[in-house]
Amino acid sequence: MTEYDVDLFVIGAGSGGVRAARMAAGLGLRVVVAENQYLGGTCVNVGCVPKKLFVYAAHFAEDFAAAAGFGWSVSKPQFDWRHLLAQKNREIDRLQGIYKGLLENSGVKVLTGQARLLDAHTVAVGEQQFRAERILLATGAQPAIPDIPGKEYVVSSNEMFALEHLPKRVLIVGGGYIAVEFAGILHGLGVETTLSYRGDKLLRGFDDDVRDFVAQEMTKKGIVIRFNSQINRIENTESGLIAHTEQPEPLAADLILYATGRTPNTSGLGLDAVGVAFDANGSIKVDAFYQTNIPSIYALGDVANRINLTPVATAEAMAFVNHCYRNLSAAVDYDNIPTAVFSQPNIGTVGLSETEARKRYADIDIYKSVFTPMKHTLSGLGEKTLMKMVVERTTGKVLGIHMVGADAGEIIQGMAVAIRAGATKAVFDSTIGIHPTAAEEFVTMRKPV
Ligand code: FAD
Ligand code: NDP
Repeated sequence: MTEYDVDLFVIGAGSGGVRAARMAAGLGLRVVVAENQYLGGTCVNVGCVPKKLFVYAAHFAEDFAAAAGFGWSVSKPQFDWRHLLAQKNREIDRLQGIYKGLLENSGVKVLTGQARLLDAHTVAVGEQQFRAERILLATGAQPAIPDIPGKEYVVSSNEMFALEHLPKRVLIVGGGYIAVEFAGILHGLGVETTLSYRGDKLLRGFDDDVRDFVAQEMTKKGIVIRFNSQINRIENTESGLIAHTEQPEPLAADLILYATGRTPNTSGLGLDAVGVAFDANGSIKVDAFYQTNIPSIYALGDVANRINLTPVATAEAMAFVNHCYRNLSAAVDYDNIPTAVFSQPNIGTVGLSETEARKRYADIDIYKSVFTPMKHTLSGLGEKTLMKMVVERTTGKVLGIHMVGADAGEIIQGMAVAIRAGATKAVFDSTIGIHPTAAEEFVTMRKPV
């Protein structure tokens, strides 16, 4: 008999926790996972999955409009929000069932409830206590809303997945992933959409051309973007919500969505009593294999706040299990992680932005193309596509690939493989295109700009 009830106790059954628990149990370890809300965590319940379903729903508005240019006539399309919610909920129930099955079939014991640490090896869930050799914190993050007067009248992305009805006018605050994605969703579903961002370009950290281009395309579609707009106070009036900014004209809406970042879920876990150290931004401090300053306690995914994406959380989980239980110490490589913003049109990006590349390399070539994709030559929608490559001049190595346009996420996933393989521009040039596609532009851009 060992002194422990379990080998690994995982707190949080989201993207990272589920992957770690399943992998560890698959190695024959005794694993328990505790989840206080919903199996699958943020991504399945209030993140990637329902968001992408909403993105599809929103896009139909344009598809109906585009169809006319191809000879179709359709009567005025009607949209039923409640039907979409019910369909979305049905799919999430199905996914939760799959997650439960995957965990249980791999031998993981699943507990429902709030878990907290009693000491470096003991976890309590309700009345039950478990002694664990290792504890993994995979508790994710939650929306962070600035503390301004009237904040009680606003909602976060969590509530957007269960709204009773769609508002007539929405004000979205923030300029990151969630703000930009929900602007496209709500506008597509017929809501008058205004986005208020405190800076002068959306999506900090993305390539500047991408940032400008996506804002232009969003504006062309009818989304109102207010840059350099800082909201100080929100008032609830009979005619709706009023957001007061530095400008004399306030912003009026029926719903205000704050998408101003997320904060790691660390409270109520007993971390202070056990002495777990935090980073300056409130996330849990870990080393390259997710070990905290307390040797038996580990943390990964959004609560450790590296790159807060589902595939990153699962990669971290695999690196953690491999390191602790399989003697395989390959750390996650955080360079060249591809990402997509499911805005309308989509953004897909991998590698360095032009600005970042210029800081690191002396000579850079930029290849860029802005064009009307074939579909929109007849659609009448006027949507354009941007493609951009950042190349190191001396070696020809492709450092970054950026796209704004239909299916950018799908296209950039393949480009990410090429970048990770160290492909040069010459390799792209010698690759035969698939015609007629938008993606072929990446192998036919001949002259730097
Ligand atoms: P989570 O998935 O959040 O899981 C943590 C779990 O721990 C939660 O279920 C929580 O309830 C539980 N928990 C917390 N505290 C306790 C406790 N004390 N006891 C028991 N359980 C606890 N990423 C992408 O890659 N692509 C996307 O398209 C994408 N879209 C997104 C859209 C939105 C609106 C949001 C909010 C996020 C999106 N993300 C997307 C990010 C992605 O969802 C997260 O990066 C990912 O879910 C992080 O996984 P995690 O395991 O760290 O945490
Ligand atoms: P982000 O960090 O992407 O963006 C937050 C935005 O809010 C920024 O524009 C930021 O401005 C602004 N902001 C922050 N604080 C304030 C404040 N006090 N007042 C006004 N504005 C403020 O966070 P999100 O909430 O959009 O998303 C969280 C994370 O979830 C993302 O970073 C991403 O990792 C993940 N995600 C991934 C998706 C995907 O893969 N498609 C989709 C959705 C989320 P500034 O830039 O000036 O600081």
